[in-house]
Amino acid sequence: MYKYFDAFKSNMKIVKDDTPVRQNVLAYGKQSIDADDIESVVKVLKGDYLTTGPYVKQFEDDVAKYVGKKYAVATSNGTTSLYCAIYAIDLKHGDEVIVPAISFVSTANCVEFMGGVPVFCDVEPDTLNIDPNKIEKLITVKTRAIIAVDFAGQLCNYAKIREIADKYNLKLIADAAHSIGAHGVGALCDLTSLSFHPVKIITTGEGGMVVTDNLDYYNRMMMFRSHGINNDYKSRYLHYYDMKDIGFNYRLTDIQAALGTSQLKKADKFVARRKEIVALYNKELQYLKDYIEPLTHKYDSTHHIYVVKLKNLNRDKFFERMKAENIGVNVHYRPIYLHSYYQNKYGDRTGLCPIAEQVYQQIITLPIYYSMTNDDVYSVLDAICKILM
Ligand SMILES: *Cc1c(COP(=O)(O)O)cnc(C)c1O
Repeated sequence: MYKYFDAFKSNMKIVKDDTPVRQNVLAYGKQSIDADDIESVVKVLKGDYLTTGPYVKQFEDDVAKYVGKKYAVATSNGTTSLYCAIYAIDLKHGDEVIVPAISFVSTANCVEFMGGVPVFCDVEPDTLNIDPNKIEKLITVKTRAIIAVDFAGQLCNYAKIREIADKYNLKLIADAAHSIGAHGVGALCDLTSLSFHPVKIITTGEGGMVVTDNLDYYNRMMMFRSHGINNDYKSRYLHYYDMKDIGFNYRLTDIQAALGTSQLKKADKFVARRKEIVALYNKELQYLKDYIEPLTHKYDSTHHIYVVKLKNLNRDKFFERMKAENIGVNVHYRPIYLHSYYQNKYGDRTGLCPIAEQVYQQIITLPIYYSMTNDDVYSVLDAICKILM
């Protein structure tokens, strides 16, 4: 059935044919929506509030409880939730925030757009999380905060990062877009930002949230997500309101929140299946260890994405050939400071984070999602072996 994988394992040569190993494309990630999810959304559509209603509050309460935090602010996506977190700490023009070199652009953009300066820290070569040993030398009198990203869903070494933050009186923000469902997500952080984009662990279509134990942060974020005005659904019939600061409309709808509440009930199940898929990949990739190395897992992970490092293979060629076999591969991520915007503004900083730059040339994301079957995993392995033969 998986002729290339079988032949590779037994060191046999076989003739390759031109047809792709899969007839249909295997996505690198996607959502899982069931009948309960659909019913929850339909209920909202038939009700009185499509937005700024009770379902948003319910979803916030549910997520806060799930992650063990006092307060939660739902937002329109996991990018606007980062903006809320930056607003919460009252970042001033020119303040510096330390961020990992490898992440989605939002992690740095929230600092940049809010008038701060993102300072890029190199990553650990084995986990691709921010390297705690490289943070301290980046701290200046202007440093206000650290944003740590739980890359691929694996929690960072927060004990170490918290110690540094406390020593220098810095705020610690988790960009936990990948890691809702990991044990202890956000535990040692002042603010934790989540994303509910369809490829993430649970989805609301678009959506995000910030969780915190700090009431002042909570109040600031509630105001910021709604134009700098505090108007929840209970007070909407009062004509008087006051805009205390300049803000945005970053609200989540009740339609999305109802989907989120329904999805959250399945988060543990989703993560458990992802762990099974990773175990299968890791076991079978032993046969390919001269070519492919999975990331190291030292801390709990949701396995939001399955990233491997290629050895002795050209990543871009490999990428093209996997696509030709109908395997949906991706690359997470190009070092943020290499993007044109950052290059144009701050100059060419090639060499700034050598580990990130080197690893970027090697990494590729293989498909993983809750409803992916073991057969799907073997089709990925088959495609890899076809390319290697
Ligand atoms: C997805 C993601 C975001 C942004 O979330 P959206 O909901 O897509 O806006 C931020 N940071 C990281 C690390 C992400 O992967």
